[in-house]
Amino acid sequence: MDFLKYFENIMDFFRSPVWKYMIYGIIFILIVVWLSFVYWTYRDARLRNTSALFWALMVFVLNYLGLIIYLIIRPPEYIEDVVERDLEIKRMEILLASAISRCPACGKETKDDFIICPACRKKLKKPCVQCEKPLNLEWKVCPFCKSEQ
Ligand SMILES: [Zn+2]
Ligand SMILES: [Zn+2]
Repeated sequence: MDFLKYFENIMDFFRSPVWKYMIYGIIFILIVVWLSFVYWTYRDARLRNTSALFWALMVFVLNYLGLIIYLIIRPPEYIEDVVERDLEIKRMEILLASAISRCPACGKETKDDFIICPACRKKLKKPCVQCEKPLNLEWKVCPFCKSEQ
């Protein structure tokens, strides 16, 4: 008899509006979380330059499963990072290219203070008559010691 009464109480609780609103509340929170997953996936996929609409739809339909699949196969970096890194590499290449001089005759690498190309013997610079620093062939005066060439 006591047990039945206890059982009745539990059933009353489940029938009560409080329980009903709790269920609604939980469903509401789940829907909000689910929609934020969809939104987050859409934004993340767009930043990574992969098909955002497709993945948003995937998460919308498959929910957690779609999100897990997306997290596994999404591109590992943001598109801005890729562009930024490519630019950085270009900058470095230009910097390196400008640091390396090449022989105008044979194209082999030379250094700025080479007087003659070690590969093809082309005359690259002339030594200053006074201080013997390497000067461009067309220079009329040595910029180091001011002596006329
Ligand atoms: Zn050369
Ligand atoms: Zn000189």
